[in-house]
Amino acid sequence: MTMEAIKTGIDAEAAIPMPPGGALFGLGLPELTVVMAGLGQKPYRARQVFDALYKQRVASLDEVTTLPIALREQMQAAGWQIGLPEMVQTAKSVDGTERYLMRMADGETVETVWMPDGDGGERGDGSEAAVEESNDRVDAAEAVTGQLNKIDKRNWGALAEQGFRRATICISSQVGCAVNCQFCLTAKLGIRRNLTAGEIAGQVAAVLNRHGVKMGKDRINLVFMGMGEPFLNYSSFMQSVRVLVEGIGVPESRMTVSTSGILPGIEAFAKETVRPKLALSLNASNDVVRERIMPITRKWNIGKLLEAVKAIPLRTREWVTFEYVLLGGVNDQPEHAREVLALLRGMAAKVNLIVWNPGPGIDYHQPEPADVAVFQKMLMAGGIPTYIRRPRGRDIYAACGQLKRTVAEESPKLVVIGAAVL
Ligand code: SAH
Ligand code: SF4
Repeated sequence: MTMEAIKTGIDAEAAIPMPPGGALFGLGLPELTVVMAGLGQKPYRARQVFDALYKQRVASLDEVTTLPIALREQMQAAGWQIGLPEMVQTAKSVDGTERYLMRMADGETVETVWMPDGDGGERGDGSEAAVEESNDRVDAAEAVTGQLNKIDKRNWGALAEQGFRRATICISSQVGCAVNCQFCLTAKLGIRRNLTAGEIAGQVAAVLNRHGVKMGKDRINLVFMGMGEPFLNYSSFMQSVRVLVEGIGVPESRMTVSTSGILPGIEAFAKETVRPKLALSLNASNDVVRERIMPITRKWNIGKLLEAVKAIPLRTREWVTFEYVLLGGVNDQPEHAREVLALLRGMAAKVNLIVWNPGPGIDYHQPEPADVAVFQKMLMAGGIPTYIRRPRGRDIYAACGQLKRTVAEESPKLVVIGAAVL
């Protein structure tokens, strides 16, 4: 099935099993209206459930106090539940990053990451974050060593005292991943199943609840960059976007979806009116290297992907981000930087360099700090805004490409504390 999913692109969605229904979370107003009508209720009841799910972010039907008790009981008896993922493990990094193991109704688990103060990846994209994070620079040496003694003073609590808080939540779209990128730990899991829209958006609600986030007051960025390939679970991913925008209240301009390059997904995405910003995991400067590290390139090569990306109508001040994982000796040399510049010439592009995060059983090397610095300088000199993504939560295996349903025994440095206790 793994190969099938890659072969057919987003059409393979139907082939990946979905969990049984019963969860209200993830349904939009039209669907809730149908559910409530089925229970003999008027449309205003659907609006009450909608507000309870997404504005109040209730965790159980008992908390939906706008509904009469008899109706709540009727709904429970009919098998309806809120259906938020359950946070079953929590790990906290010295840099403030938190990684959660989220359990779905059928017992499958994915990981979700909370990064107070963002991941540095939003900088330079024309958003206000670019200005706010000006003192959040990271140099090449720090990115490679992942210096964890430099704890950011502006933590969530301190920001709260100033009456302003911001954070980035990284969410998963699938249990595992079918795209066999050679440098990524998630790839080792293979694909187990797609997440539903409710399970994708539900990760956000669970994390917001944990931190007592008030939407509208606190600034939350979302990145679809956790486990899985969002464009191989396209319809659920897009439904989760609608729920997050219309229900939870995160503007789509504060969301970024990252794809490894699923051509039919990019083409469908280009036609969406409400959509996140796009990040393409370029990761190589030519097809030969990319085929080696991302075998999916054999299906859709760099040329085809860039053509599809160029066809996306961009909003004012919108950029496309190109992620580039630097693998020592593989794709991090000056000739590669020159090729990247040639590929991106003329595009509203910015580049996020990600120093490869090591994982057990993956035979790559981190780049030399000097090579990272040269790579960045060359792209900048060529006119491409280029940032080095700060490695977040590397000590707890929460950084890019390190998500794989880690359990405590596998990661000795991991601090696992009961979900609500931290
Ligand atoms: N599947 C999507 C989104 C999740 S991966 C995608 O591939 O784009 C998010 C980012 O992490 C991608 O840019 C990917 O190239 C990068 N990544 C994967 N493994 C990594 C690793 N070990 N170190 C650093 N970045 C990694
Ligand atoms: Fe999947 Fe992204 Fe990892 Fe590739 S990098 S295996 S697409 S999660």
